[in-house]
Amino acid sequence: MAFEDLLEDPVIQKYLHELVGPKGMPVAAAPPDGEVTDEELAEKLDLELNDVRRALFILYENDLATYRRLRDEDSGWLTYLWTFEYDNIPENLEEELYRLHDALEDRRQYEQNHEFYLCEICSIRFEFGEAMDFGFECPECGSPVESMDNSRLVHAMDDRLDALEDELNIDVEG
Ligand SMILES: [Zn+2]
Repeated sequence: MAFEDLLEDPVIQKYLHELVGPKGMPVAAAPPDGEVTDEELAEKLDLELNDVRRALFILYENDLATYRRLRDEDSGWLTYLWTFEYDNIPENLEEELYRLHDALEDRRQYEQNHEFYLCEICSIRFEFGEAMDFGFECPECGSPVESMDNSRLVHAMDDRLDALEDELNIDVEG
């Protein structure tokens, strides 16, 4: 098996698991050296061919596998020879972190710029405009909704953003 060191990293294991799911994980976790066909993988890993193909296609879509096609001249059948391209994993993970960072930043902005009201009985949160439309009463249970302080949530998001920025070496001004 290739890429042993990479695959020992729990972050990478989790990343692969999220991509291919539990059924695809045996495929993703055992990249062979060199080229392999889907049939060979299915046989070696004792998996359904469809599950193997699905996992390979997901890896392909994420630039973690490539294939070339061979046509059997007699039967006309196509064989797909797959190569795992796990050298791309670190770069992919970094892109994931950037996406996470940007989404979190948007979310933080939203939390910061809105006022919220809470029904403590139903644990439902309303934006100010919604709460006003409902006359500051919960539409589910009729209790009055209370102004909600979300500064702890915003601070938690700041901490997470700081950690992500450290990890990604993003320079933040101010
Ligand atoms: Zn309620």
